[in-house]
Amino acid sequence: MNFEEFAKRLRASRSIVFFTGAGISTESGVPDFRSPGGVWTKYQPVLFQDFLASESARVQHWRLKKATYELFKTVKPNLAHHAICDFESRGQLLGLITQNIDGLHKLAGTSAEKLVELHGTDRLVTCLNCGKEYQPAEVYEDLPEDFTAPTCDECGGLLKSANVSFGQSMPIAAMQRAQSWSEQAEIFVVVGSSLQVQPAASFPVIAKRAGALLAIINRDPTPLDDIADFVHHGAIGNCFQELQPLISKRIDSGQSPAS
Ligand SMILES: [Zn+2]
Repeated sequence: MNFEEFAKRLRASRSIVFFTGAGISTESGVPDFRSPGGVWTKYQPVLFQDFLASESARVQHWRLKKATYELFKTVKPNLAHHAICDFESRGQLLGLITQNIDGLHKLAGTSAEKLVELHGTDRLVTCLNCGKEYQPAEVYEDLPEDFTAPTCDECGGLLKSANVSFGQSMPIAAMQRAQSWSEQAEIFVVVGSSLQVQPAASFPVIAKRAGALLAIINRDPTPLDDIADFVHHGAIGNCFQELQPLISKRIDSGQSPAS
């Protein structure tokens, strides 16, 4: 299906699910952490088992997260984050599933009940023992050069950034919500995900099998391009910019003609 046809279908739907990955945030200046020069080449991510077992692994976790915290202070949602938010304002958004832990969808204004953060978020720190939540600033701003891993002021348990680490199980409620949205979607739009890892790659397949129109907007080809109804390779912001006037026609055509 061509661009105009896709825009027409989007305009008419009230049951759209977006699924976003790192590519949507690179245009906000969040580097892909795996890329050369990314944070992960400087600080290795820590396996969850190691985090639980070893103080030096925990310190390594906090060094990585402190660097990420400093970076996240400077980044802002971009046109694509805001465009997805507009679908919610128009009553067209069934749900937004993201693999990103940068919190930019929330900052753009997407509401909590429409958002599943599959891999958690770095915009929160939690106690692994009692679940108490801390704002990142409370933890990172006071972290000295030489530190021991921070613990909970309530129960003494280990604190950890609220992202899902390697080796840590995926949050069940989030997975169920994402699954259910995928089954119900009329249109399922992948934005900025290379769809290389499970379970991420399973959701578009679930949606497609359940009869959804599947669209993939990504810089590079993905393994699911062959089963998609609409594919756009290239800059994500540009694609949303071109979509915007076509989508907002819906509002114009809904108004009664001026007499
Ligand atoms: Zn606690």
